[in-house]
Amino acid sequence: MRTTAVYKDKRFLDHNPGKTHPETPKRLEKIYQVLEQKDVSRHFLFPSFSPLSEDILLYNHSQTMIDEVALTAGKTAVYLSGDTRTSALSYETSLLAAGAVIDGVRRVCDGEADNAFCLVRPPGHHAEKHKSMGFCLFNNIALAAHYCLRRLGLKKILIVDWDLHHGNGTQKSFYNSAQVLFCSLHQYPQYPGTGSIEEIGQGDGKGYTINIPLKGGFGDAAYGKIFEEIVTPVAFQYQPDIILVSCGFDIYQGDPLGIMRVTSAGFAYMTRKLVNIAEQICNGKVLITLEGGYNMEAMHHGSLAVLQELYGSPIPGIAPYLTDETVIQSRLSDSNVDILPHLKNILGQYWTFQDSNV
Ligand SMILES: [Zn+2]
Repeated sequence: MRTTAVYKDKRFLDHNPGKTHPETPKRLEKIYQVLEQKDVSRHFLFPSFSPLSEDILLYNHSQTMIDEVALTAGKTAVYLSGDTRTSALSYETSLLAAGAVIDGVRRVCDGEADNAFCLVRPPGHHAEKHKSMGFCLFNNIALAAHYCLRRLGLKKILIVDWDLHHGNGTQKSFYNSAQVLFCSLHQYPQYPGTGSIEEIGQGDGKGYTINIPLKGGFGDAAYGKIFEEIVTPVAFQYQPDIILVSCGFDIYQGDPLGIMRVTSAGFAYMTRKLVNIAEQICNGKVLITLEGGYNMEAMHHGSLAVLQELYGSPIPGIAPYLTDETVIQSRLSDSNVDILPHLKNILGQYWTFQDSNV
């Protein structure tokens, strides 16, 4: 059993982009209810944390952009982009979400927690230096990576982004850097349109952006295979000081915005893999933060599957989601992820892969 810090706060429900918007406060309500049950909550650490200060926001965002978001405070509705609408408390909530993720990396690096799960809103991975977009105000995970490098003395950060959508904001923040390895699995083509296999970084960052664009319909076995054949060998070669995860549950089967077919077992599997890798190379340091996910059942079961794997033991009252790892293992070979040979070919000059198959 590990010490897992869980970031949960009712104030994350205060950001309301509108009644018909998919990024609704309801996404967090059910999982919060489960976490409030004493027999569940007693297994986790629930740290207190503060809203992020502007000096740290400037690590990843321009002053103009920060001012633009700040000006939405107190207003009923402002559109920062076509799909990104704020409410009166959105600015405050977004500072709190980023503050939670920063507090999480600090505690994990200080050893107060082994790992952390940030159940926050609004999400962040689409937010770029100069603009909020894609339901995201500030880029929580990019801010956390900057904070690790500038304030916590870490040298290398691995970000794995398994949200349905490409994390364009995070990619742009570190496109020229070898200090952050950004690895994204996403449906393609899809919003926001970036994330092609050829986008591999620039300058010093060449080879440190890995995009795995997938046509729809892939499930647990395909994601497992990609983790086996791409994510795991790259992580061992890169040797990061911490693993950060942009966790979207919109790859869950039945999500209204996507057509992937991952189940709770798949989320448990991906989490277990990353925790195991982290235990071997960076003292188990993993922080997972919530991005998308618009099917309420998926949010609930997916979150519990991730939590259980971070904790490392079944939680009484919650059935284990990954009871027999061999089920996924046995299906790996059957899963045809047709872009893998091409991907290995493109990345072959930067990374070594076991089964080149090219
Ligand atoms: Zn998404």
